Amino acid sequence: MNANYLQTPIAYLKGVGPNRANSLQSELGISCFQDLLNLFPNRYIDKTKYYKIRELQRSSADVQVVGKIIHLKTVEQKRGKRLVAKFVDDTGEIELVWFRGQKWIKENIKINKAYVIFGKCNWYNGKFSMPHPEMEFLEEHEKGVKIAMQPIYPSTEKLSNTGVTNKVINKMMQQLFLDCKGQFSESLSPKIIHELRLISKSDALFNIHFPKNQELLAKAQFRLKFEELFYIQLQLLGKSKARKQRIKGFVFDQVGTHFNNFYKNHLPFELTNAQKRVVKEIRADLGTSAQMNRLLQGDVGSGKTIVALMTMLLAIDNGYQACLMAPTEILANQHFNGIQELLGDLGIKIAILTGSVKKNQRIIIHEQLESGELHILIGTHALLEDKVKYKNLGLAIIDEQHRFGVAQRSKLWHKNNLPPHILVMTATPIPRTLAMSLYGDLDISVIDELPPGRKPIKTVHRYDSNRLKVFGFIKEEIKKGRQIYVVYPLIQESEALDYKDLMDGYESIVRDFPQPEYQISIVHGQMKPADKDYEMERFVKGETQIMVATTVIEVGVNVPNASVMVIESAERFGLSQLHQLRGRVGRGADQSFCILMTSHKLSNDSKTRLETMVRTNDGFEIAEVDLKLRGPGDIMGTQQSGMLHLKIADIVKDNDILKTARFHAIQLLKEDPSLENPNNLVVRHMYTQIIKHKNIWNYIS
Ligand code: ADP
Ligand code: MG
Repeated sequence: MNANYLQTPIAYLKGVGPNRANSLQSELGISCFQDLLNLFPNRYIDKTKYYKIRELQRSSADVQVVGKIIHLKTVEQKRGKRLVAKFVDDTGEIELVWFRGQKWIKENIKINKAYVIFGKCNWYNGKFSMPHPEMEFLEEHEKGVKIAMQPIYPSTEKLSNTGVTNKVINKMMQQLFLDCKGQFSESLSPKIIHELRLISKSDALFNIHFPKNQELLAKAQFRLKFEELFYIQLQLLGKSKARKQRIKGFVFDQVGTHFNNFYKNHLPFELTNAQKRVVKEIRADLGTSAQMNRLLQGDVGSGKTIVALMTMLLAIDNGYQACLMAPTEILANQHFNGIQELLGDLGIKIAILTGSVKKNQRIIIHEQLESGELHILIGTHALLEDKVKYKNLGLAIIDEQHRFGVAQRSKLWHKNNLPPHILVMTATPIPRTLAMSLYGDLDISVIDELPPGRKPIKTVHRYDSNRLKVFGFIKEEIKKGRQIYVVYPLIQESEALDYKDLMDGYESIVRDFPQPEYQISIVHGQMKPADKDYEMERFVKGETQIMVATTVIEVGVNVPNASVMVIESAERFGLSQLHQLRGRVGRGADQSFCILMTSHKLSNDSKTRLETMVRTNDGFEIAEVDLKLRGPGDIMGTQQSGMLHLKIADIVKDNDILKTARFHAIQLLKEDPSLENPNNLVVRHMYTQIIKHKNIWNYIS
């Protein structure tokens, strides 16, 4: 069918009309025929199977059961009433429950007459119950036409209330296919279709909406998922190519004095293989004439700092300046001190610029930066101020990327004629699958190996009722000379309450750990920055043994002597946050511990998070679980991407299809970079439409 026809407003489809058109638009974003065609079912129901009650499982799948109602009663409850029916077959009984429309049901239901019921079974109070089942008399059911696989479309309450039920959507879809005679234009090249043995576009669309059988449904799903991911990958590759062609970068082809000297004489330890590999990847980037845009992922403690430093040395050896930007003052200071120490007497001039640097000092820094006397500048957001001008900034490194928005990154960017090379370092591992889809236009390096000799952190889950034992353990650790973090949640919505928890907790710790034997620091967001730094410093220097804090300490702080991380109300933290916090310990040679404190009341998701933390220290594994629990929408940074409003593919489950799609997209661009081959015309057409309309599915049919 031609694309224009599919742009017809949905109100013109037979059986729709203005009212339904309105709710389709507002509830599902369907405004034209095309949108309806691309409304893919969430799931399918196999109506060829009839379950015996004895066979029911405690899963959430929909089931179809034949039996009869032997009893019906109204049950009063706190809010309103519910209608409950006892439904039996020859193997057992279940409850059917109605919360709405009880009057109609009561008047129309027939006791002791055979029904086919259909719906989702819940396991509740020791028995199965099915709320609001679909019901049909067995007699009628046997007469009717049976669809083997019934599609279930996304819906909302408002939609069903305006009469657009699943059945109605199904009818509309039938009408649309009739009008179009089931013919839709092909949107993949013959070569790809052949190589992957894909079914045609028309067949795929037919079988996604009216599956003839499981096998064809699977083929339809594969084809449409592939197509979706393929065009996303094509777009990302296109962007990346455009960037490489358009954006010229400085060429750092010298591996000079400083780099070599540092490598030979100042390296305090041998690099891990992963670190070596990443340095190599970065060097390769910097040697070409394109701007580097690289994301460096490495779990907490994997040793990103030294990689950053070596990259800066490459810049300096080639006559350029480098800067490193951190999200907090504490972190910037830590980087400054650490890097200064690593550099030793290498003769490199380095300065720090943060909000608390005094004005006269600031002026000196500005001058030295402009004259080129200063090689490395480390700092916070202060680096982004207009007054900060470099002689020749060749490299910008951003630590803990998620704290900075894209806009801020590009601000740094525009300080030169040519953009500096960019290295973004993050300790929040983004699952590979997601990274591939999100950052297809960023190159990615991964440090997937911890420095040798690290003992994995032992993680345990303890209930609040075990607090005394936990305190006892802490005292033993302090006796061994170690330091302890105790972290409280601080969640925006309940800020006042959270501060109360923090202060209560602090007081109880002060009581149990009396001075002068124990010294305790406290750090939270409502303190003045100077006070915060002071308290932090005391802990860093080992003057205090316990640091009570909110999540302000989450990012980057390095106190190798700290060996215990106690996380209070751990059930309230997200997985990646828990992992970040845990990463504050385990930085020294001693065995470290993470203790997750919770109440007894835990949701299933909380349990999964805690179990995951106890089971593994692997940031990537944790990120994958996190992604599964939360869905990609909530993962840091993905909200803005817009790439993840996938209609049919699932970025987690369809990882393999994603890889295939990426492979074929790369292959295609290799063979026919500007899509000139007549065989690739369809792809080219689709691609230009997508770029123009910024929406894949608008033009995919
Ligand atoms: P992160 O990736 O979290 O920023 P850091 O760069 O702060 O990690 O490194 C964590 C600790 O590991 C530092 O104390 C650092 O000196 C040490 N380290 C880094 N690389 C190695 C290595 N190859 N061998 C031994 N220790 C290392
Ligand atoms: Mg770091």
